[in-house]
Amino acid sequence: MYFVEVILPLSLAKTFTYRVSEAEFLFIKKGMRVTVPFGKSKIYTALVIEIHNNKPTLYEAKEIHQILDNTPIVTEFQINHWIWIADYYMCALGDVYRGAVPSALLLESETVITKKNDLFVDESLLSDDEYLVYEALQKQSSLKVQDIISILNRKSIFPVIQKLIDKNILVLQEEIQESYKPKLVRYVRLHPKYNTNDGLKELLEILKSANKQKEVVLNYFQLSATEKKPITVKKLVETAQSSPAIVKALVEKEIFEEYFLQEDRINFSGNGRDGELELSANQQFAFESIKENFKEKAVCLLHGITSSGKTEIYIKLIEEYLAIGKQVLYLLPEIALTAQLVSRLRAHFGNKVAVFHSKYSNNERVEVWNQVLLNAEKAQIVIGARSALFLPFNDLGFVVIDEEHEQTFKQSDPAPRYHARDAAIVLANAHQAKVLLGSATPSIETYYNAISGKFGFVEILKRFGNVSLPEIELVDLKDKYFRKKMNGHFSDVLIDEITTALSLEEQVILFQNRRGYSPIIECITCGHVPHCQSCDVSLTYHKHKNQLRCHYCGYSIANPTHCHACHSVDLTTKGLGTEQIEQELLSIFPSAKIGRMDQDTTRGKFGFERIIDSFKNRELDILVGTQMLAKGLDFDNVNLVGIMNADTMLYHPDFRAFERSFQMMTQVAGRSGRSEKKGKVIIQTYNPNHNTIQQVTNNDYIGMYKEQLYDRQIYKYPPYFRIVKLTLKQRDFDKLKEGAMWLYQVLSQNLVMPVLGPEEPAISRIRNEYIRTIIIKIPQNTSIVSTKKTIQKILNSFEAVSKYRAIKVTVNVDFY
Ligand code: ADP
Ligand code: ZN
Ligand code: ZN
Repeated sequence: MYFVEVILPLSLAKTFTYRVSEAEFLFIKKGMRVTVPFGKSKIYTALVIEIHNNKPTLYEAKEIHQILDNTPIVTEFQINHWIWIADYYMCALGDVYRGAVPSALLLESETVITKKNDLFVDESLLSDDEYLVYEALQKQSSLKVQDIISILNRKSIFPVIQKLIDKNILVLQEEIQESYKPKLVRYVRLHPKYNTNDGLKELLEILKSANKQKEVVLNYFQLSATEKKPITVKKLVETAQSSPAIVKALVEKEIFEEYFLQEDRINFSGNGRDGELELSANQQFAFESIKENFKEKAVCLLHGITSSGKTEIYIKLIEEYLAIGKQVLYLLPEIALTAQLVSRLRAHFGNKVAVFHSKYSNNERVEVWNQVLLNAEKAQIVIGARSALFLPFNDLGFVVIDEEHEQTFKQSDPAPRYHARDAAIVLANAHQAKVLLGSATPSIETYYNAISGKFGFVEILKRFGNVSLPEIELVDLKDKYFRKKMNGHFSDVLIDEITTALSLEEQVILFQNRRGYSPIIECITCGHVPHCQSCDVSLTYHKHKNQLRCHYCGYSIANPTHCHACHSVDLTTKGLGTEQIEQELLSIFPSAKIGRMDQDTTRGKFGFERIIDSFKNRELDILVGTQMLAKGLDFDNVNLVGIMNADTMLYHPDFRAFERSFQMMTQVAGRSGRSEKKGKVIIQTYNPNHNTIQQVTNNDYIGMYKEQLYDRQIYKYPPYFRIVKLTLKQRDFDKLKEGAMWLYQVLSQNLVMPVLGPEEPAISRIRNEYIRTIIIKIPQNTSIVSTKKTIQKILNSFEAVSKYRAIKVTVNVDFY
């Protein structure tokens, strides 16, 4: 008897055994996909992780339908890593599999498939089966895989669909909903008809009396001779000191042709070595020390203050790993940041840089997947957000984790709730690769590991070019309000500084960690505040749309004209959001051009880049934004940063609140004065003497670290304790309360460590589900493995209690 052990892409803890023929048994290897029947009538793409002869004892093994691959598409490195993730983060292996593999490789009977729009298809190139599917989709806009099975009248249809997807004729339905549009860059080239000598003469004749146009064309020739790569309209306009309108005129005359390329998929010719920079002495020293550290340690922290030039050090290190043929993974906290970095790396490494993230289309993701699997040169360096960690590396040499302190590296929903930094370290270990963690404001845990010698540790305490760190000035809001020195939410000091900056034609960044106009509308008569009907939060006022909106579920209502409780018309706004700051700015600085960057203005990837680009191009004078501003952006004309209100961050009910406030303020402040001039930062606060604010002002990372570490020890938090957070949700309030209490009691009776709860979180209802949380704190010297086993056992018995079955429990290990 011949069997395979497979993972199904479902939230199931177990693997499953299927029967195969002898021929299949000899052919199949670990890491290949097979389609299998599951349940009454479903078909899934499963992954083979074992080939064996052990008949299952509890059920009759079904036969697989079909083998999908000729060679494995998942490596053993990955399988082992996924097993570790499932184990460590207490989730189903199927969750990891489903989260790791692009969905185009995971077709199942429920997958919905549609035809691409406006597509020319040469029908003669389709096989009979492919044609049948294609024809069916002329009549119906979409089909389930299940339907296709009946159309073709057989079960082994996944390869047919896969081929049609590869040919770009079909797409998965889910993709249609994706709003992502990759950024297109506009290029021009000479119309081919002028590419001959005669053509050239003719061209000069045409342009004889159009001097401005001639100037642009001549510059084009010069650029194409020196640059040897596609020429963007932007570059051309800059070099020729001309305007886009003139280029447009040339396109209309058919002298130029314009074309578009997707920014992060541009092909470079040549070796791409244009970006070569000399390291400064500080950078060189850090570079050498990192290599020294790597002789003994697998992981090294590079603590380099903002604008110390960390990226250039990463580049030099990457170079060394490329030279010995290794693969390199470069993780970023935010996909929105990739464009800036990709162009920096492409300038250096040319075509060896691939980008991978969840906003890419399925085809593109599969493409990168295959390149990494084949160890192709085109994907020797992969840049991506956390999910790039799941690619099929087989010879990983080096991992860079930039801005390692960012909480977006921790996935909170859905499972697997992994931390990309920690999971990357484990992955790198398996490959015997090195990991560099970079940050100006390392997380407490990482700094602790560096100080204690577990990680290597390298510092740069000077900015690149010896530019000084910005000067930080605190403005006491209490005093300013008392002395009537406020205009709206702007102190006289901040207004003066903005005025000066604008008069010098410098740009300004203002930070407010809240979007919307004013967070809430309150009735002056009775104090009523409108709340979301399905969540336990007040609604946020959005002036632009004149709406109140829930930031948790998207529920919205028109802005009320009177109080819903007492009908009074005396309503007032309270709190402060980005939109209101923008409004106030407009009235204080009527001639300034103001942009706003928050979740409302940056939907899709497009929005974010549009704003960044126009700020970089100096089309905006002032940029108002939320914490998105804090993430490693590099602007050279900003010498003033204002933090509107530092207090909202400080008083979050969270053990990381002070650490995060420090990181956020330091990072935002770091956007100031990056080129030559010493920058300035104004922090408005009601608590100028708060320790954290003082630490930010004095650039005292160590002070912050020591104070926080002390608190973490006293209050039992990481790095001294590991936090496992259980979240229970149900619509029935009383059942939930009872169930949470049951679970809490059993846990605290069986674990010799702090178990807290069941707590009603600050937001205790979302989308009509009530929420309770339980926190387990595992001490450093206690076995995590056996503790988790106990927790899992208790969760299993909880699930077995029929009256609690409707309660959903999620487990978050190393809750962030
Ligand atoms: P960080 O990531 O540490 O905040 P960056 O890597 O963005 O700093 O560098 C800050 C600025 O200094 C960037 O504009 C970068 O181009 C410039 N820079 C860094 N290193 C060099 C170098 N060796 N030569 C020239 N410019 C550099
Ligand atoms: Zn009222
Ligand atoms: Zn809501």
